[in-house]
Amino acid sequence: MSRYWSDVVQGLTPYVPGEQPKLANLVKLNTNENPYGPSPRVLAAIAAETSDNLRLYPDPNADRLKAAIAAYHQIDASQVFVGNGSDEVLAHAFMALLRHPAPLLFPDISYSFYPVYCGLYGIEAVTVPLDAQFGICVDDYIGRANGGIIFPNPNAPTGRLLPLGDIERLLQANSGSVVVVDEAYVDFGGESAIGLINRYPNLLVVQTLSKSRSLAGLRVGFAAGHRDLIEALERVKNSFNSYPLDRLAIAGAVAAFEDEAYFRDCRARVIASRETLLQGLQQLGFDVLPSAANFVFARHPQRDAAELARRLRERSIIVRHFSLPRIDQFLRITVGTDEQCAALTSALTEILAA
Ligand code: PMP
Repeated sequence: MSRYWSDVVQGLTPYVPGEQPKLANLVKLNTNENPYGPSPRVLAAIAAETSDNLRLYPDPNADRLKAAIAAYHQIDASQVFVGNGSDEVLAHAFMALLRHPAPLLFPDISYSFYPVYCGLYGIEAVTVPLDAQFGICVDDYIGRANGGIIFPNPNAPTGRLLPLGDIERLLQANSGSVVVVDEAYVDFGGESAIGLINRYPNLLVVQTLSKSRSLAGLRVGFAAGHRDLIEALERVKNSFNSYPLDRLAIAGAVAAFEDEAYFRDCRARVIASRETLLQGLQQLGFDVLPSAANFVFARHPQRDAAELARRLRERSIIVRHFSLPRIDQFLRITVGTDEQCAALTSALTEILAA
């Protein structure tokens, strides 16, 4: 800690992103990246943009990308905000829409980024425990004074999905503040709440191209909501950085939305591998939560999760373990290729037999 730090910085607990070790031959199942590369059309679009154009600033409004997202989700471009990964979109949402005197509500066991932004922006956080099956119970949020509500759907790191009907019930009962639905993983088994934005002016839906579109390295995320909410996000964005997306990101992201066949095929492969992985883990004695995401959340009734993660790591397989109450006996395992998943289950077979 330095005496030059502001009091805000001194009180911050920095968010530590999932590990990105630089080892060769790693089976990397710890940060929910897509095991398949982006569409060839994305790569071609980025290559085409790598030209003399790079000396020019990008379009600060990323109009082409907003139009592509709006067309895909059948909404208006004025209902779309884009940013440098959904983490940045969420950061702007915290500042623009969730910073109120009443506390922000979010589940206890959800995305670890939320408390960090509460700290950064001086937002009081009140966490709401998940139910006994690790699900979000909307009744626990209804009727509570709040300055906003945020949750991932499917939830992270549990993978559990909240049905759209429950989200609608929450929106109906909670019209006084913004409800943010963080849909980083929705393409792997959920139905997006974007279809509800025309009916609920307090709904903001956030998505990313990092997972289902295989573009974590390009850093593109977006939000969809009523144009008043989008305007608030634009105001914050323009105060920080008027050019959040570079030319390569805009070109690649537009192409990603134009290649629907690739997207569907890649998603179907990940979902099929998830079911094989889930069954493989169950055969090894793991309890696995139902997952609508590109990861599974599993615990072994007799084995310590931290120890299992260490043993896997010795074999160059990395999964995620959280040293947090209630979930410290779970492992979060990203769905890899079938070969990677088979490497994981055979390593676990050896470890459990030892
Ligand atoms: N929301 C959730 C729930 C996540 O798990 C992640 C990925 N760590 C993000 C948002 C952010 O993803 P990105 O910034 O890559 O779009």
